[in-house]
Amino acid sequence: MRFVITIVLLCVLYLVLRHFLRSFIRKLSDNAATQAARAQGTATASLPEENMVQCAHCGVYLPASEAIMQNGQPWCSQEHAKLGMK
Ligand SMILES: [Zn+2]
Repeated sequence: MRFVITIVLLCVLYLVLRHFLRSFIRKLSDNAATQAARAQGTATASLPEENMVQCAHCGVYLPASEAIMQNGQPWCSQEHAKLGMK
């Protein structure tokens, strides 16, 4: 019986260690990823942010410069502008 308990305890210990190791590795890679994103973010942050508008028909978001403005509403396409509000 003692042998079985030892095996079970070793299994539990193995699983717990594996879990912590995995979360530790994930945390490390997350940090590396966020640092890389931050480094890239400084490059893209200098670009002016474009306003996003929502198509009044289908609700899709698109840059304001690509939207078709009609009757004071943004539309994603001529077709949706013709169809009108949903
Ligand atoms: Zn649309």
